[in-house]
Amino acid sequence: MQFRYFAAPPDEMSGLCPEELSCSLCGTVGPCFRLEYAICPELTDQQKEDAVGCFDCLRKGRFEFWHDTEIGLLDENGLTHVYKHNKQPPPEFPESSLVELRRTPRMITWQQGLWLVHCNDFMTYLGTWDPKDFYANAEAGDGRSLFFDMTEPEYQHLWDASIREGENRLESWQAEYYAFRCNHCGKLRGNWDCD
Ligand SMILES: [Zn+2]
Ligand SMILES: [Zn+2]
Repeated sequence: MQFRYFAAPPDEMSGLCPEELSCSLCGTVGPCFRLEYAICPELTDQQKEDAVGCFDCLRKGRFEFWHDTEIGLLDENGLTHVYKHNKQPPPEFPESSLVELRRTPRMITWQQGLWLVHCNDFMTYLGTWDPKDFYANAEAGDGRSLFFDMTEPEYQHLWDASIREGENRLESWQAEYYAFRCNHCGKLRGNWDCD
């Protein structure tokens, strides 16, 4: 199943049931999402508690997901809850991008994950990255430089704070780092949370 904005493995999709189930909307048996927190006008809130929906119904919009994004909360009404801390007014996203992101699985995060934005569009979620992923994706293997390039200044302390004394290469950290790529210019960005 291809998503424009979600390139991470299925086990990083929030609410995806481990077993194959019968879709509450179309009856097809296969991988399904729990609909408890989904947007689904066909079902009442009570019906949604026990309902599941398949990938096909998500792509067709029979149910959708709200997403917390860098600009604001995307829900069935669009980007209506724009965050006040944004200094810039929200760029005019095409309606098709809003629809596309609502028909995209939510990512699994420890806390509230923000969907990042670049080139006036939502970025594609690549999945969680460990230090080794930065080394593997960096030019000349300079993972630390790539991390600093991808990460906003207020979150950059993670790398150096995670290095143990006497270690040259960072092996692990106590955080989940969420990596994104811009579909337009290829820019990589990411954010993280820790417990
Ligand atoms: Zn279905
Ligand atoms: Zn870009």
